[in-house]
Amino acid sequence: MDNQNYEDLLKKAESVLSKSNMNQQRLQIPDPDIIQEGKVTIVRNFIDIADMINRDPKHIAKFLMTEFGIGVTITGRRLIINRKISADQISSKIKQYMDSYVICYECNSPDTEIQKIGRTYVLSCKACGAQHPIRIVNESRDDDTKIEEGKEYTVEISKVGNSGEGRAFYRGFNIFVPGVRRGETVKVVIKKIRNNTAIAEVVDREK
Ligand SMILES: [Zn+2]
Repeated sequence: MDNQNYEDLLKKAESVLSKSNMNQQRLQIPDPDIIQEGKVTIVRNFIDIADMINRDPKHIAKFLMTEFGIGVTITGRRLIINRKISADQISSKIKQYMDSYVICYECNSPDTEIQKIGRTYVLSCKACGAQHPIRIVNESRDDDTKIEEGKEYTVEISKVGNSGEGRAFYRGFNIFVPGVRRGETVKVVIKKIRNNTAIAEVVDREK
C-alpha cells in the first residue's frame, strides 16, 4: 500500500471514530492548591478535584496513600498528607488515578463510572459503552506511551467494525488494523498516525 492509501484509510478511520460517539473532551482538573505546614502538606481544594473527576474522595485518598506510602486524612474539603509533597507530584498522581479509574480506555471520555461485575471492578463508559476491567496504570499515559510510525507493537484486537476494520486500543491510541479477527493478538507495524488514531498492518500473528 502506498502513502496515499494509508492517508485515505486514516480519514476513514477518523470518520468511523467520530460516528462511534468519540468523545475527546478532556477534563480541566484544577491545580492542587497546597500549603505546607512543617512536615505536612494540605491540599485545600481536594474535594473540588474529586467532584470534578466525579469519584469518591475516599477512593482517591486511598490511592494517594498507597502511591505515596504515607498517611493521608480528609478534613472538611481538604486533604492532609503527612509529608512535604509538591503540587506537581500531586498533579501527576491525580493524572495517574484518572488514567486508571476515570478515562475510558477506548474513547478517552471522562464520562465513566466504576461498576462491580461479579468480582471484577469494571470501568464503564457512558459515551461509547465500552466496559473494561480496571487496570492500574503505573505511569502517566503521556510520559511513556507514544507509538511511532514504522515501529512494531503487539496488540489485541478488541473489536471489528461494520466495514471489517479491526480495532485495537493501545497506549491511548485507536489503532485500525485491516484483515483481523476480534480477540486476535497480532504484531503490527504502524503505518500512519494522526492525533489518537493510527493505521497499522499485521506483520505476525500468534499461532
Ligand atoms: Zn468510551
